[in-house]
Amino acid sequence: SKAAGRNCFTIYDEAMSAELEARNMLEGDLRDAIARCQFELHYQPFVDVASGQRCGFEALVRWRHPTRGLIPPDQFIPLAEETGLIVALGEWVLRRACEDAASWPSDARVAVNLSPVQFKEAELFDVICAALGDSGLPPERLEIEITESVLLERGIENHAFMERLKSIGIELALDDFGTGYSSLSYLTAFPFDKIKIDKSFISNLSHRPHSSAIISSIVTLARGLDMSVTAEGVETSEQFERLKGLGVNFAQGYLLGRPQPIERIAPEPPVAGSR
Ligand code: C2E
Ligand code: CA
Ligand code: CA
Ligand code: CA
Repeated sequence: SKAAGRNCFTIYDEAMSAELEARNMLEGDLRDAIARCQFELHYQPFVDVASGQRCGFEALVRWRHPTRGLIPPDQFIPLAEETGLIVALGEWVLRRACEDAASWPSDARVAVNLSPVQFKEAELFDVICAALGDSGLPPERLEIEITESVLLERGIENHAFMERLKSIGIELALDDFGTGYSSLSYLTAFPFDKIKIDKSFISNLSHRPHSSAIISSIVTLARGLDMSVTAEGVETSEQFERLKGLGVNFAQGYLLGRPQPIERIAPEPPVAGSR
């Protein structure tokens, strides 16, 4: 059937095979990269809107490619997911993030993104516990970010898994809220601690009055459900002030700090109550 396809759609097929070749090359590179640990985590702070203080950092993975330079996650995470390589990569991310956070001078939390593919692995709970145990990071300092696609499939199993994570003290955040198909009922059905409002709503704040209304209703709903709200992609102080007025709890974005290698993040003066 491959040969038949080739006869019928020659031009299309050539473009396809070039793409396939590039993909295979990248897949080979990705395999090597995992074996050789060519990845880095960059950390972006999130702050408490009321006090302006940093509460933690989100770990964002980058690929330090030997010839292509630093590759952003959007360019390799989808391939890592398709090929299953995300399981090994995701474990590395978890371990590194926990180790890094355990060595920070403050109680700052660390937020780690988990792929829906990792969520299907029966060993994920043990992997997380091992990352915590080996690094000595208290579970209360780990946040796990998942997108709603995790809730659409395997809803019941994932719900039970999330309860298990919560039972040991890990916090759960719903990432990119507002971009997918989730109705508000997902929020009530799953045990999230935090909702992260997607940056598209934040960038629209000044020119689309609807965005304010949407954010404000998410805040009201979250309060009712005992969840906190983070605004992502905060780039201007005008946005920050508006979000403050709307009652958003946490903010993250270029205004407050870009993702950076941990050694380049300037230490903050010690915060009252921190160790
Ligand atoms: P995300 O989890 O929604 O992460 C936030 C993204 O927004 C990051 O892009 C961050 O650099 C970017 N960002 C932060 N502040 C601003 C801002 O003020 N304006 C704008 N325009 N963008 C901002 P990044 O690092 O390229 O990551 C892209 C996505 O890749 C992440 O989106 C996440 O879905 C995925 N990703 C990153 N690291 C991991 C990982 O370790 N595991 C998995 N499974 N996915 C990851
Ligand atoms: Ca995230
Ligand atoms: Ca997000
Ligand atoms: Ca995203």
